[in-house]
Amino acid sequence: MTVIDPCTHCGKSTAFGFGRFINRVPSGTNHYVEDENSNVIYKEGEYREGYACEECLAIDCDRCGDPIPLDEDCSLDEWGEQRAHYECLTAEEKAKHDKENGDE
Ligand SMILES: [Zn+2]
Ligand SMILES: [Zn+2]
Repeated sequence: MTVIDPCTHCGKSTAFGFGRFINRVPSGTNHYVEDENSNVIYKEGEYREGYACEECLAIDCDRCGDPIPLDEDCSLDEWGEQRAHYECLTAEEKAKHDKENGDE
């Protein structure tokens, strides 16, 4: 079976009608990927270009561990290496975040 526009991260289709079409983002990568049954989807170093689905782009929250929807992550440090949901921030961090994003 040929997958149309497979996600470069999970191999699932990002084509229209598959639920991953919306919010797919152009992506090129070459890291190793396997599916739930340990079948190799992409070999290590196998470069593919296409789209990544929203699920794969979601960053895990450093506070609760759940994935954070695109554009809703908040940096916990100035380098943005640690991310959390807005709801997972402390009151102090929320205030800081609001201040930094106040002029958007
Ligand atoms: Zn994906
Ligand atoms: Zn969270």
